[in-house]
Amino acid sequence: MTRVVYVNGRYLPYARAGVHVEDRGFQFADAIYEVCEVLGGQLVDETRHMERLERSLGELRIARPMSRRALGFVLREVIRRNRVQTGLVYLQVTRGAAPRDFPFPKGETQPTVVCLARRVDAAKREARAAAGIAVTTAPDIRWGRCDIKTVMLLPAVLAKEAAAGEGAQEAWLVDSQGFVTEGASSNAWIIDASGTIVTRPTGNAILPGVTRRTLLDALSRENIPLTERPFTVDEATRAREAFITSASGTVMPVVRINGVVIGDGYPGRLTLRLRSIFHQVAELCR
Ligand code: PMP
Repeated sequence: MTRVVYVNGRYLPYARAGVHVEDRGFQFADAIYEVCEVLGGQLVDETRHMERLERSLGELRIARPMSRRALGFVLREVIRRNRVQTGLVYLQVTRGAAPRDFPFPKGETQPTVVCLARRVDAAKREARAAAGIAVTTAPDIRWGRCDIKTVMLLPAVLAKEAAAGEGAQEAWLVDSQGFVTEGASSNAWIIDASGTIVTRPTGNAILPGVTRRTLLDALSRENIPLTERPFTVDEATRAREAFITSASGTVMPVVRINGVVIGDGYPGRLTLRLRSIFHQVAELCR
């Protein structure tokens, strides 16, 4: 658990950290976030996470709370104070606190900035990757701008809760035409019968995952064939391999979709190779 939390310029003990009751993040989910992997105490793909954070802020017209350099300092300080070697760092920026009213507050409202870090049990995560995970599917009931990384995550919460009830670790969300958009908190991938890797192209329907982007670099570096196109649940259940990507799990094999076994029921060979080369391609920042 995180012991020290950064809130608006202060490093506070976990139990005493809090934001205003009229924070717009709390009342309207008027807020964005990022999650970065921490490996050996270093930030993974910091540049891409910062670029996406700035894009999310720009799309919602939330003022930049501080420079990229200053945010980088906060992330590192939270990692350091919590002594995280292997884990995650979470950064959230809201439009700030103001008397409740739908339009943006008039005048200068200071954005709220919160940063937490927590350790992840690397052995547990590797055991999960060695076994592969199960996913279920659920209708994608989210809004039309899933490319913005907002904290408006209730549809994802409900889909994950339903998945957990089925003994699955992730939910794949399905659009009105039957195509998988992405996972509730990950991007979705399959490997078809010809060995081609398939993932949905970016656009308003999915979050442009940083792990997804870095994996695309790895694929082109290794000359592994890739097609960016939507795929259906039916195609996925007949795929040779399947996996998800996210900062918290990097490349995580999927071995069951709605109870249907994928391939031979074990993590795919290519999937495991991609998992093993991921950190050679990702940016590591001290
Ligand atoms: N899609 C959604 C909806 C997510 O919440 C996440 C993880 N935050 C991802 C994709 C994966 O993105 P990243 O690789 O940047 O963690």
